[in-house]
Order: sequence, then structure tokens, then C-alpha cells
Amino acid sequence: MSTPLDADLAALAAVVGPDHISTRGADQTAYSRDLWPRAQLERLAGEAPTLPAAVVWPGTAEEAAALVRVCVAAGRPIVPFGAGSGVCGGARPMERGVVIDLKRLKALRRVDEAAGTIEVEAGYMGERLERQLERRGLTLGHFPSSILCSTVGGWLAGRSAGQCSSRYGKIEDMVVDLEVVAGDGVLRRTPAYGSLGQGLDWNQAFVGSEGTLGLITAATLRVHAQPARRCFRGWLMPDVDAGLKVMRGAMQAGLRPAVLRLYDPVDTVMVGSNPDAKHGGPLAKLKTLLNEGTGGLKQKALVTALSNPRWLNAAIDLLPQKSLLVTVTEGQDAEARAEDAAIAGLARAAGGQDLGEGPGRAWLAHRYDVSYKQSKLYAAGAFVDTFEVAGTWTGLGALYDAVRRAVGDKVLVMAHFSHAYPGGGSIYFTFAGAAASRAAQLARYDAAWRAGLDTVVEHGATIAHHHGSGLSRRSHMDAEHGAGRAWFDALKQVLDPTGIFNPGKLFVPR
Ligand SMILES: Cc1cc2nc3c(=O)[nH]c(=O)nc-3n(C[C@H](O)[C@H](O)[C@H](O)COP(=O)(O)OP(=O)(O)OC[C@H]3O[C@@H](n4cnc5c(N)ncnc54)[C@H](O)[C@@H]3O)c2cc1C
Repeated sequence: MSTPLDADLAALAAVVGPDHISTRGADQTAYSRDLWPRAQLERLAGEAPTLPAAVVWPGTAEEAAALVRVCVAAGRPIVPFGAGSGVCGGARPMERGVVIDLKRLKALRRVDEAAGTIEVEAGYMGERLERQLERRGLTLGHFPSSILCSTVGGWLAGRSAGQCSSRYGKIEDMVVDLEVVAGDGVLRRTPAYGSLGQGLDWNQAFVGSEGTLGLITAATLRVHAQPARRCFRGWLMPDVDAGLKVMRGAMQAGLRPAVLRLYDPVDTVMVGSNPDAKHGGPLAKLKTLLNEGTGGLKQKALVTALSNPRWLNAAIDLLPQKSLLVTVTEGQDAEARAEDAAIAGLARAAGGQDLGEGPGRAWLAHRYDVSYKQSKLYAAGAFVDTFEVAGTWTGLGALYDAVRRAVGDKVLVMAHFSHAYPGGGSIYFTFAGAAASRAAQLARYDAAWRAGLDTVVEHGATIAHHHGSGLSRRSHMDAEHGAGRAWFDALKQVLDPTGIFNPGKLFVPR
């Protein structure tokens, strides 16, 4: 049964029409979280979610601006919502908050083939956009693993990276201009910037701001021609350091492969590319445990092992260190072949064994796969999360070792290096742990995060490469951003003087 709306919620309904606002319990619950794994642990521990006062779906950018004006006048916090695939709690609502879901803003407003740009609305879903572009022989070149369940606005707000960022850049490298609504409720466009621009790049004030400075309603983004050819390869490298040497060598030689993806020894076993893991040895046993440990006795064994991860991590260190490097080069035929050959030269020189096209093609076929085993693990008392960081080539190998050491007594940890640039790259850690009670699981989960983030800050690296900060990393944002924190506060005063845009996200409020 519906209850009468507060005056300001009624005003929101008047903007979008009664069909596009909801105060129903099912919608409030559905929008009470994104995919931050901690939220799952909180629910299992019996913590009640914070429900938004209402969910609103504007149909145009003008309606979105009108919603902002109503919320500003009423002092209602706004939580911008794309597809809710964020993994840091960025789209989690707060008391009295209104969730503005932008998915009805889904027009591809303009394709300018001469300029090599598109203008697209913020709620456009990623995979649908890429399919539209493909029909015209174009690509954005942005392929996050969540492409099926994330939006253009979410990518921009979270400074997202696609799987081919080594060639096409991260989302911030693709922006020409943005249409935004800040705290004055006026729809504005940032001055166009890009390789043709001068002065300050105002786009970058909004990119990565996670909805704390305003709503992004549309963007002009650079696009590229579809590649005429792709070359795939896999290399079994003697160890992680040898693989990193190839990645750095390729990027610093000016090559721009679409994919350079190095799996550490455990991750190599998990993707099935260590031949030693196929013949019943300890690696094979580890793989079976991790892959099949979601039922029966194996599950019990896995949860026990994850409760004492120090021994599991130490045992892994004693196993063969072979690491899979997947490479994909693309572009015009000659360019793709030449880059493939150049990387092959680097990989051979570093002791790599050529595994042929198979691993590259297998990666492509499974590039958006997600595991559905997690809920069983959570139910059994375990948890899984990912933690992606970045640093320069100078210390990337040392950072990998240090984070593994720092979290290794709390969780089982594995990693891959999937985004390489001339100056450095990212490390994508996956960790899993377990404990006897729900409270103990939360404590262990938090301890692992804290130890990981502390270590990254100590190494002068960056605490997030593409997942953003949300609630999960905000404890360490001041340490990383230094003077930038005061500049952010000043910008917030100007753009959001009433403080209604996604309060408490990105940085811990002063
Ligand atoms: C299986 C899986 C794989 C993933 N792989 C990747 C990956 O490869 N690369 C990557 O970058 N990320 C990845 N992610 C994380 C996530 O998909 C990204 O953070 C993505 O950019 C979020 O988009 P979204 O539309 O779902 O945003 P949401 O989760 O809805 O929101 C994310 C943040 O942006 C804000 N926001 C959303 N839309 C707007 C807007 N229009 N204006 C202002 N603020 C807004 C929200 O308030 C929130 O703070 C993955 C997530 C999952 C679950």
C-alpha cells in the first residue's frame, strides 16, 4: 500500500511522473547497495541496510537537473546510480537519500565520424553502446569486465579502465567534454578538451568524483576504427619478474598492445595454463580445492584452509613460479603482426615459452565471465574480494611482494597485472578468507583491506587503479591525495554548497 509522499518527494514525482519514482520496499532494498562485497558480509552478520527514501528515474537531462533543484531546496542527499556494479560502496544510499538512477538517459545523441567522437548519455549500458558502435565500424575501446552491467556515467564517475587500456587508455583519456548538473541545478557543458585543448581540463574535475560534485548526464568521447586484425599469444614466463620485464619493455618501446596480462603463479594455475598443474601434483590439488571447494567435504577443506591462510600462502611460495603472460595486439594487419613479433622477441629474451594462440583466444572467449560460486562460499563462512592498485615500474614487483606479505596471514592472495602503460601498471589482487563467526569474518576482511592499503600508501603507489574509492578506500584517500584534499573541499563548496551530492563518499567527511 502506498503512503502519502513528503512534499519534496511529491515534487520529484511531479518532475518525472508517478511511474518513474518509487518508495516501494522492494525498490528501496534493491537500491540499498551496490556490489561492494563488505555489504554482503554486513547482511550476513545481521546488519540492517540503510534504505533510500525514494528511487527516481529521470527520462531527460533536463528532468535530472530539475530533480537536483528539488533536492537542493529540500536538503535531500542525492545518490547517483548507474547500474550498481561498483564494488566500493559508492552508490550506497544514506538516511533520507534519494537515489537518482540515470539508466533512462540512454540516447546516442551524435556520431561525428570526421572528429572521431560520439556524444552519449550517461545511462547508456556499456555492451549495448559497443554493439551500436561496432555496426558503424567503430569502437570506444573501453571493455571493463563489467561491460554487461555498467554505464557510461558510472565509468566516468569511477575513473574506470577497460581490458584494453594499454592501447586505448582509461575512460579519462577518452573524454572530450561532459554535460553535468552541479548544486545550482543548471545543466552545463565543460569546455571541450582533449589533444586540441589548452588551459585547465575541467572534465577531470568530474571524472573520478564518484557523484560527489554533481550528476554527469552526457559525455562526448573519442572513438576509433574497429581493428582490422588481432594477433593472440600466450607465454609461460619463468616467474612474475620476467613477465613484468616484458610488459615494461613493450610499453616503453612505444608498442601499444590491446592486452598485456600477466598472471602470478596461483592465478596461472586458476586459468589452467600451468602444465605442472595438470598431472596430479600439489598445484593440481590446489586448483581442485579452489575451483571445486564450494560443496561438501571440499568446501569444508577450503574454509579450513582459508581460516589459516598463512600456511597456504607459504606453501604456494614453494611451488613452481611459472606465470602466464597473455598478449593481444591489434590494428591494421601489418601493425598487429609487427607488434606481436616485437613482443615475442622480448618474451623469448626473458625466458618465455611460446604457448601459441590458445591462451589469448581463451582469454577473449571468457573475458566477461563471472564466477557464481561466491555466494556458496559466503554462505559457508568465507569471503572473496578484489583489490586493484597501481604503481610505477620502479617498484611494481616490490609492491606485489609487499602486499602479499602484508595480507598473507589474513587471506589467501593471488594477483594478475592487467593494465600496462609506459610509466607503470596495475596489480589486481584477489583475496579470500574465512573465520568461524560473522563478526570474525568482518574483522578479518577489514584487517586485510587495512593492511593492503597501508602497504600501498607506504610504497608511494596508488590505492585504486579503476574501481574508485567509494566507502572502501576513503580511509586512505587523504594520505594519497595530500594537498588535493583541501582543493577537493574547496571545489565541493563551490559546486555543492549544500553538500547533498553523495555525502561521505570518496573522502572521509571532515
Ligand atoms: C564483475 C565485475 C567486474 C568489474 N570489472 C571492472 C573493470 O574491468 N574495470 C572497471 O573499471 N571496473 C570494473 N568493475 C567495477 C564497476 O563495474 C565500475 O566501477 C563501473 O564503472 C561502475 O559503473 P556503474 O554504472 O555500475 O556505476 P554505479 O556502481 O552505479 O556507480 C559507481 C559510482 O559512480 C557514481 N555515479 C554513477 N553514475 C553517475 C553519474 N551519471 N553521474 C555522477 N555519478 C555517477 C555512483 O554514485 C557511484 O559513486 C567491475 C565490477 C564487477 C561487479
